[in-house]
Amino acid sequence: MARNEAVFYEIKCRSNKKDFYLRYDFAYDEKWVLTYGLKSLPAEDARESSSFGNRKSTIDISQARTGPQYKCPYCGTRGFVRCGSCGKLTCYDHSGHFTCAHCGNSGAVSGQIKDMDGSKHTSQR
Ligand SMILES: [Zn+2]
Ligand SMILES: [Zn+2]
Repeated sequence: MARNEAVFYEIKCRSNKKDFYLRYDFAYDEKWVLTYGLKSLPAEDARESSSFGNRKSTIDISQARTGPQYKCPYCGTRGFVRCGSCGKLTCYDHSGHFTCAHCGNSGAVSGQIKDMDGSKHTSQR
């Protein structure tokens, strides 16, 4: 049985620097799936995750997959990077170069996208 559970991460769009949220759902096959990029948290989820930002929900991204419907709600890219300087997330278009929407740090993206714990993100669709 799938757990009725979703985890949200704050992220910013690289193009307009607006906040949005990555939504991960725990799927029937016991994998986390990045399902949606949301401009705001749904009211019910906001209530449930009222400790958002305090409670650490750690997901093993190397075991997660990106759902076909996921994209940045602002610019439509399907990737994201974590800034090596401030540790926050910014959407990413796989161009090989990124600019952090939070702190302005920029540089080349080396290797695969890393997960929230620093282990490899293997993209398996
Ligand atoms: Zn974006
Ligand atoms: Zn940064």
